[in-house]
Amino acid sequence: MTVIDRPQSFALTEPVRGFLKKQHQLLIGGKWVPALSGKTFDVIDPSTGEVITKVAAADAADIDLAVAAARRAFDHGPWGKSKGLERAKLLWKLADKIDEHAEEMATLETLDNGKPIKMSRIADIPGSAENLRYNAGWAGKITGDTIPASLPGNFHSYTVREPVGVVGAIIPWNFPLAMAIAKIGPALAAGCTIVLKPAEQTPLTAIRLGEFIQEVGFPEGVINIVTGFGETAGVALVDHPGVDKVAFTGSTATGKAIVRACAATLKRVSLELGGKSPTVILPDADLAKAIPGASRSIFFNSGQVCAAGSRLFAHKKIFDEVVGGIAEEAKRLKVGPGLSPETEIGPLVSEEQFQRVTGYLAAGAKEGARVMVGGQSVGNRGYFVEPTILADTVRDMSVRQEEIFGPVLCAMSFDDEDLEKIAAEANDTTYGLAATIWTRDISAGHKLAKLLKAGSIRINGGGLDHAVPFGGYKQSGWGRENGKDGVELFTEVKAVSVNLS
Ligand code: NAP
Ligand code: MG
Repeated sequence: MTVIDRPQSFALTEPVRGFLKKQHQLLIGGKWVPALSGKTFDVIDPSTGEVITKVAAADAADIDLAVAAARRAFDHGPWGKSKGLERAKLLWKLADKIDEHAEEMATLETLDNGKPIKMSRIADIPGSAENLRYNAGWAGKITGDTIPASLPGNFHSYTVREPVGVVGAIIPWNFPLAMAIAKIGPALAAGCTIVLKPAEQTPLTAIRLGEFIQEVGFPEGVINIVTGFGETAGVALVDHPGVDKVAFTGSTATGKAIVRACAATLKRVSLELGGKSPTVILPDADLAKAIPGASRSIFFNSGQVCAAGSRLFAHKKIFDEVVGGIAEEAKRLKVGPGLSPETEIGPLVSEEQFQRVTGYLAAGAKEGARVMVGGQSVGNRGYFVEPTILADTVRDMSVRQEEIFGPVLCAMSFDDEDLEKIAAEANDTTYGLAATIWTRDISAGHKLAKLLKAGSIRINGGGLDHAVPFGGYKQSGWGRENGKDGVELFTEVKAVSVNLS
């Protein structure tokens, strides 16, 4: 691991400095308004721990206004009657705005979240624009079925997919803009209106997006953006009777709290939760690809990825070579502030997340896990942690069972060729989000894919594709985002039967 020194300060461009100086408010009903309480909260740069700006802190009263605005826009505004093509055009315009301001958005994302600017530039920001365009393609192509009726008589039966209504969207901090767009894109394509609560740690790109939303000319109230805390704004949004559906991405614990809260009204709920995803490397795998692939899978975004490959299972014959190779990668990676162009591993997002990850490292050491590489925090400023590999972990250690959400890999070997046994070990978790298999034997790859209990399986690599459904088995969630399933998640099915006789 190479540590990059932080320069005294990075020269920020005029648009970024101007944005940071603003009084950041809430976008409700097409207008920027302060929180009714007048409260604000600090936004922190995780590479220094310093405050970079302040944003409005919404609570229940502001959520009331935002939901009322979204309700009006859905029930009485032009949006409720809009054609798919009109919605698609606006989504494309919003995507173009993101591209026009890509460098500014990348800087804001990196300042706020800490992630390497390289990643904000090549993944987060352009990926968000592309996701909007992908979903724009669905608006106007969301269809039902015609169904041959089985009742006696002469019936014509068909289904239509209608927008579910007002969506309360709650998102995490690991890919702030991308997560906002992952809700906005399909919800709007389906014809819904939305109240979005970004994560308290990373509100900035969502606020800038709100400015683009106004410039592009979405009808008022279609997209409302309310920054605030989970326990106030988040809870109020989930509980609000005017919300038809909650679309949530975040931790499994919060997902369960949301399900309990939604039981009162039975509003629709979709959940993208945590994971403890396995990377399985069979003995015949192309290690020149599998080793960097397994390394990226756990160290990308400092391991703050729901689908991170945090449990490695490599066959005994190749275990030393695989783990040695990943350890080499871990040592080579450049750890530093996100704004430095060479940085490959930025800080963790917050003091809380830093405490959480270093707490797991301490617990692992205490319980007897062996640190093969890394294992320490870095420097005395900001929230940096070394890319880490732990060996000799046993089943009931917290580092083996729980989602660490940091750059920490648990490495395990297996010594038989029985795919069912390998799958049983890989499936030995309460989660079921993702799994990656490395093998040259494509038949073994498919057989193992069938045995793994996870919503997203990759054979020999690959990344998130907006066209491919993504979501969890077991305690990793409910529903699938992306692709056709993703847009249908924002619809209700209505069946119509006509007696023609
Ligand atoms: P979290 O607490 O689940 O937060 C996710 C979102 O939910 C945030 O916007 C949060 O607001 C909000 N929230 C919190 N409690 C709520 C409640 N009772 N009702 C409604 N909304 C609520 O996750 P976190 O604290 O950011 O991270 C903790 C762990 O979650 C991570 O370490 C990781 O295990 C997991 N995680 C998973 C993903 C994923 O993509 N699957 C992403 C991030 C985190 P605040 O920001 O104000 O708390
Ligand atoms: Mg921040």
